[in-house]
Amino acid sequence: MTRFPPDRRRTLLAAERPTEALSRHGRHRVALGFPNSYEIGMSNLGFQWVYRLLNREDDVACERFFAEDEDDDRRGPRTLESDRPLGEFPLVAFSISWEMDYANFLRLLPAARIPLERDGRVEGDPVVLVGGDCARINPAPLTPWVDVFAMGDGEKLVRPLGEILRRDLSRERTLHEFARIPGFYVPAVHGPRAEEADEGRIVVQQLKAADGASREPPHTTLLTPHTELSDKLLIEVARGCSEMCRFCWAAYAMAPQVRIPAEAVLEVARRNRPLTSRAGLIATAVADHPEILTILRGLSALDFHIALSSVKIDAISPEILAILTVQGERALAIAPEAGNERLRLALNKKVSDAMLREKVRLIAASGITQLKLYLQIGLPGETDEDVGDLVRLVDDLRRIFLDEGRKRGRIGTLVPNVNAFIPKPHTPFENEVLDEPESIAQKLKLLDDAFRKMPNVTFRGMPVVEAVWEAYLAKMGLESGPILREAAAGVPVRKLVKEHRETILSVVRPIRPAFPGPPSDLPRGVFDPHARQASPWGFIHKS
Ligand code: SF4
Repeated sequence: MTRFPPDRRRTLLAAERPTEALSRHGRHRVALGFPNSYEIGMSNLGFQWVYRLLNREDDVACERFFAEDEDDDRRGPRTLESDRPLGEFPLVAFSISWEMDYANFLRLLPAARIPLERDGRVEGDPVVLVGGDCARINPAPLTPWVDVFAMGDGEKLVRPLGEILRRDLSRERTLHEFARIPGFYVPAVHGPRAEEADEGRIVVQQLKAADGASREPPHTTLLTPHTELSDKLLIEVARGCSEMCRFCWAAYAMAPQVRIPAEAVLEVARRNRPLTSRAGLIATAVADHPEILTILRGLSALDFHIALSSVKIDAISPEILAILTVQGERALAIAPEAGNERLRLALNKKVSDAMLREKVRLIAASGITQLKLYLQIGLPGETDEDVGDLVRLVDDLRRIFLDEGRKRGRIGTLVPNVNAFIPKPHTPFENEVLDEPESIAQKLKLLDDAFRKMPNVTFRGMPVVEAVWEAYLAKMGLESGPILREAAAGVPVRKLVKEHRETILSVVRPIRPAFPGPPSDLPRGVFDPHARQASPWGFIHKS
């Protein structure tokens, strides 16, 4: 896998347009991989930004590789730029944003003839580094295979990484040097639970809120039509979210929020306008930026077509909607999460039913004809009544949406997108359990039956097996090794969940507290320091 057929490689390279001249020369070479297809990898702003930062380093040249389809000549994964095998690079780095890509990661190393177990690597083998969201959430399951985890923002970690590369050290010295720098976790030096690190902690290195004012806005390095977001200039406007919904990993892990001033965002947009007319704003919650209107007005004045993936409910205004719809946007997504105010309050989601009704009215009046509603079942403290309230809420919003649509002569569709609540590390709900699979199935059936009877409603529910697998991937520890290996060998998720049911349920629905001592009497939704310490990610702390 990952070797590009010559024609495809040439086509992809020929279609790329850089937003900054990249030096292709450097004695110290890094292969930077995204363990999924080119189309998905190049749609990822974090991957694109780190590629730029690495290439900006003196005497460092970074090339990309992806998890492409199986290739016949069995030459193994090669980089896109120079078609070189990964084994020739002293540093092979991965940016992993989704745990779902772990199987591809595990396939890539043996395909490149790099020993899979880090203990089996010797002098001359590449140092295997993993960064991206997965590294900072829960690196534990990957520790047998990864030499170095980069835990934090690229701006904080790429510079020291470049300094280490330029020193031309032995493999062993390289690992020790990484281990000395805050934010790099080296299992061979720090231990599988970072027992040997300072105070047994690895401290994630991230920008502070005050850094936002002077931060260069991360943006697309290479524009290409061959991505899911064809030729779209992605610009990050903020990281973190002020709402702090109790289930949201991004809000807690990225806190405090780092916002980039509108003028800096618009300067990037202006500079790159000759290259593309499509822009996408990236943020944990796009509209949670005090200057969002200035940014949208500025992009609109530059004649960019703008798409927002979802909008924070309280930030929805006639002007934001007008900017989107005047460009032809007809679809929008919002996230009420729960069917009533009581449960929303328990999640720290500050959206009343009245506000929701009012915003849906504005959305329909603006000309949006497809409104996606992100909702959850199996939330902590949820009752049968709460599930019934999801049905009542959707019906209520449907009526408002249709009434307004009729006035405009265009009847729209409501799309309730219902996921199971997945407890995520580093959130106040990290020790909650996944709902019982049978209960998730029953609730989905109830919702499906109810929504089927509602005209202009298209229901999308998360398959139960996906919920169990996603919850497992989020919280698994070292016990996951054999399961991940089977996944890498191509065993379907449905079969894995069935055959390893006991192990998987013991992680997603632990019966007893995983820590010694009495169960915690802390109120629901509050971090429990004891349980946290015992969790696979308990050694990760924030700067
Ligand atoms: S509003 Fe969205 S991004 Fe912000 S904390 Fe809540 S779920 Fe997370």
